Amino acid sequence: MSSISRRDFVARSGSCAAHLALAAIVTPDTLRAAWARTALGPVVAREPFGSLEQVADGIWALISTPLGGDSTTVSNGGIIAGRSGVIAVEGFNKAAGASWLATKSRELTGRWPTHVVVTHYHGDHANGVAGYVVADNASSPPPAVRTTERTRDLVVQKNQPADPARTTTIQGSVPLSSTEPTTIDLGNRRVRIVPRSGHTDSDVSLEIEDPSVVFCGDLVWNAMFPNYVDAIPSRLATSVKALRRDRATLYVPGHGALARQPDFDRYASMLAEVEQAARKAYQQGTSAADAGAAYSLPSSLGEWTLFNKVFFERAFAAWYKELGG
Ligand SMILES: [Zn+2]
Repeated sequence: MSSISRRDFVARSGSCAAHLALAAIVTPDTLRAAWARTALGPVVAREPFGSLEQVADGIWALISTPLGGDSTTVSNGGIIAGRSGVIAVEGFNKAAGASWLATKSRELTGRWPTHVVVTHYHGDHANGVAGYVVADNASSPPPAVRTTERTRDLVVQKNQPADPARTTTIQGSVPLSSTEPTTIDLGNRRVRIVPRSGHTDSDVSLEIEDPSVVFCGDLVWNAMFPNYVDAIPSRLATSVKALRRDRATLYVPGHGALARQPDFDRYASMLAEVEQAARKAYQQGTSAADAGAAYSLPSSLGEWTLFNKVFFERAFAAWYKELGG
């Protein structure tokens, strides 16, 4: 927090991408290195912006490493392949990120993505979506972009800088139901896309039964304190509870390394700690700014990247909004 004022920091860290770019300023090198190093599956591609890890037969997760300074992708995402189609997960921060993932899809599966799912509107998940519709894909049709109507509208209304290619691509998306899960049949593999909320007004998760793999979008962050900028914390808690499975599962978080059950549970415990602290501070009449400034996560929860006080203040403010309403 040395080179920029707190006010600037609050103003500029509205989106997840800015949140992470600024986190790079305040994150110790050791933590950055640990985050970039943690891989659960074989790494099939490594770039300055992230690593593509195979998590199961036909399933790869892109674990982005933006704290090194490369913002091509910023969010995590991935590839889910079946005999008759391939889903690319997320549109990423820049079109180059989406094009890169699509090229990897072709290398690994023989196919350009047939579907793209954008989990929510934030720029680091949506802004590069037009990268799936590019000239070097002349041999196959552009993928069907799937997102909820709410997410589509928010991308068009809020995401900056405006980009006509992005707008055209997202306007052409096929809406996902906001009330019922949608199943995409990839031949030998079915993927359920489940409408949820809590990180934003409209989030979706992508859920596979066998092997048990869940792409969580930004409903789950692994070892990183999440951005509550649009959060509805009670709904976030409900969504996280619903995402947890009772069997061995690999969770692809929106940010941070691949997560197994203990990582997932540590995240859920962290959210519960924040809730408890926010409720108490609210009852005592403490302002969100003061409560956030005074707060620290219990050491039993381990290390969390982005422990800057601004993020705590934002979490308290999100809870206050709900408690006051
Ligand atoms: Zn987000």
